[in-house]
Amino acid sequence: MTDAVADRVDVVVVGAGFAGLRNLHTLRGRGMSVAVLEAGSDIGGVWFWNRYPGARCDVESYDYSYSFSEDLEQEWRWSERYATQPEILRYINHVADRFDLRRDVHLHQRMTEATWDEQTSRWEVLTESGDRWSARFLVMATGQLSTTKLPELPGQERFPGEIYHTGQWPHEPVDFRGKRVGIIGTGSSGMQMIPLVAQEAGHLTVFQRTANFSVPATNAFLSDERDAEVKATYRDRREKAQNSPSGLGFVPSKQSALDATPEERREHYEYAWTRMGFGFALAYYDLLRDQRANDTAADFIREKIGEQIEDPAVREKLLPRGFPFAAKRPSVDSGYFPTFNRDNVTLADIKEHPIAGITETGIQTTGASYELDMIVFATGFDALTGSLLRPTITGRGGQTLRQKWSAGPVTQLGLQVNGFPNMFIIAGPGSPSLLSNVLLSTEQHVDWIAQLFDHMRENDLDVVEAAAEAEQKWVAHVNERAQETLYPSAPSYYNGDEIPGKPRVFMPYVGGVRGYRRILEQVVADGYEGFEFSRAAERSEAHA
Ligand code: NAP
Repeated sequence: MTDAVADRVDVVVVGAGFAGLRNLHTLRGRGMSVAVLEAGSDIGGVWFWNRYPGARCDVESYDYSYSFSEDLEQEWRWSERYATQPEILRYINHVADRFDLRRDVHLHQRMTEATWDEQTSRWEVLTESGDRWSARFLVMATGQLSTTKLPELPGQERFPGEIYHTGQWPHEPVDFRGKRVGIIGTGSSGMQMIPLVAQEAGHLTVFQRTANFSVPATNAFLSDERDAEVKATYRDRREKAQNSPSGLGFVPSKQSALDATPEERREHYEYAWTRMGFGFALAYYDLLRDQRANDTAADFIREKIGEQIEDPAVREKLLPRGFPFAAKRPSVDSGYFPTFNRDNVTLADIKEHPIAGITETGIQTTGASYELDMIVFATGFDALTGSLLRPTITGRGGQTLRQKWSAGPVTQLGLQVNGFPNMFIIAGPGSPSLLSNVLLSTEQHVDWIAQLFDHMRENDLDVVEAAAEAEQKWVAHVNERAQETLYPSAPSYYNGDEIPGKPRVFMPYVGGVRGYRRILEQVVADGYEGFEFSRAAERSEAHA
């Protein structure tokens, strides 16, 4: 730590994305002083960084927006069913201005260390620039997909052309015109940008390691009639979302895919294909519980994907196989597959011929050499734990979070970690997180924590910490519930498979937004069972 004098606040919130700003608004409203530390040069979180062409949300705009202010809901006008990145960023900026949030956001302040001081019962926080804060509470609102992953490919320094990562996209426009572009990665980011880049580039080579499932985005402009209709019934819509497993408002079918006749199934899947976007995974209740049920959906989707691709050899490579549909995060796409019918697009199968390295002229695989002017990494993130483990967070007894989580994340309800008093995590591992509408899950956490702070104030308590036994029970429960599903069987970032050497643990809670909310409510009703409270060390000594 440096000698700089620490600014004292009630709460340090790390991250000025949707979660950090909501924390600020809510906690400030409770009369608490809050400092939001943001690594970037402006607010917005993932929507600030991910400005690659085609970036948009695949949760409907009306649901991927704050629910805390009815006035805000009524005055903001979304233009599309699934909003683009620039529109979402405009929304976040609008919210920040409307609720006067900027004055407590500190930009260019990447937190590098946070240390629990057992003498004072405060978090001592240090940022990259040497600034210090001292806070009673530390709230990690660092997002689930915010630490970018750049594969270590030998020779990168030799490539003279442009290199980008979708998650750290430049602010200046990137010109693809006439260039030979290579995109590595075919997850949601790759699938979104590939059709657009193909229209501009001289030639586009897509380096695909795993063909993933994708369903049509079914995007549309929102008419005034539709907007009025949603706004007239917004509370019902929010309530439906809160009471649905995914937080998207879809009520999963109560029927098994295996109980429907093949004709009924096809009719239902055709409907889901054209209307449900991401909700396809809920077309039958057992799609993620029974391999045979899942096979019926996977076969249908493969057939639909196949119909879009002309060349049989390319088609074969683009068909996802070897893992259940939706057990690895599927994409929703707009014209991704027909892009491979274009003369200026090549698919390079890097499962068959892995990338050997980057050269002075482009990418060398074990099968061929590709001459490129630009390389785009659409290779994703160190998901869920990346941004929590990047800073050094030191709890009681000098234990770091990295040490505590060396075999995978352990939490009580995803909210707190034993040994790290007064620290909270928003929509991270151990909570529905990436298996839900993250914005709704974020608001749920913020509200729950604010209620907990009320409880502490009313009862003159200073310190709250997850009980060790409760944490063990919750981790076991998260794991048991996951084992009832097909999720653990797919190689995915839910399991930590995206980073070589990362512990293989299923991280999000599969029990659903509604089920999880009931658990949170029950914990409160039971007097915050699983959490231990105390007075600050300083105060206890003074009182003695
Ligand atoms: P991702 O889903 O993790 O995809 C990364 C891609 O890069 C995969 O195709 C992966 O192949 C490939 N890859 C990773 N490391 C590689 C390596 N060393 N060599 C070759 N290929 C490699 O990342 P993403 O596309 O950025 O999306 C991340 C998440 O962000 C999404 O799942 C979604 O939750 C969110 N997102 C949402 C939207 C939206 O709302 N529409 C848009 C973009 C992103 P493997 O599959 O073989 O690992």
